[in-house]
Amino acid sequence: MYIAGVDLGGTNIKFGLFTEALECVFTSVTRTIRGDSRACAGQIKYMLEHAPYRAEILGVGVPGAVFRPEGYVNSGNLRWARVNFADTLAEVTGIRAHIDNDAQVALAAETLEGGSCWQVTDAVYLTLGTGVGGALMIDGRPWRGRDNAAAELGHFITHAGGLKCACGLRGCFEMYASAGALGRFAGGVRARAVLDRARAGDRQMTEALDRFAREIATGLCSLYMIFRPQAIVLGGGVSVDGEILIERILRHIPDAYNLDADIMRRALRLAVRQNDAGMAGAALLAKQEFLSGGSE
Ligand SMILES: [Zn+2]
Repeated sequence: MYIAGVDLGGTNIKFGLFTEALECVFTSVTRTIRGDSRACAGQIKYMLEHAPYRAEILGVGVPGAVFRPEGYVNSGNLRWARVNFADTLAEVTGIRAHIDNDAQVALAAETLEGGSCWQVTDAVYLTLGTGVGGALMIDGRPWRGRDNAAAELGHFITHAGGLKCACGLRGCFEMYASAGALGRFAGGVRARAVLDRARAGDRQMTEALDRFAREIATGLCSLYMIFRPQAIVLGGGVSVDGEILIERILRHIPDAYNLDADIMRRALRLAVRQNDAGMAGAALLAKQEFLSGGSE
């Protein structure tokens, strides 16, 4: 049988068809129609119908919170507010679908062979992009909380009374650890360019990157003490070719009683899967949900 894995992003919908062993046999991509969940479901139906083999189950990763058991999705990227995508998707495609947050999906992909969390049972995953997303794995299972919306790792507070965040709080980690924060530290230079110029030895960009790394290290220290994971994974746009960022973060991990700085240093790593993570992870979660007795 075949499993479809879909990465439903704010820009593109990436579709992958997988075997039960999660080998990818086919991919396709299309531009996302934003602000219309029924149109999105129609796009996925079209992609399912134009794949060389028929998928029996479907996994979808979305950039937003997916609440259960109700099944509704909030996503600024897709311009969805309380959209019941689970029902829409089942109705439009006619096959069973598992919908999950994109960070949760990306972490699942990292648990596949060759990923940064292969054979890891406890992991903290951060997506450093326009915002900061997160996912947790505890005892080999995704940590979902009461309503599946747990692990909003962009919105724990690292600066009490700090900058106002779009979520309504002040001083959220995201305000200091996202691509936007890095750009701000660098005087308006785009995050990717800051990394490139720091790599080339630009002193001002190196200082901005160092400040950014210190902010991330501050958040990671708290996360490490709470979860004591084997792996702390950095994914998302800022992490691509992010060795220089990892190096800088490591310099800002202090020696402290509860930190095991050496172990924490070994735990910190970059996501291995980038472009295909959303498709593979979504297929894996669908497989766990429907074929392996559930992932809860
Ligand atoms: Zn916030």
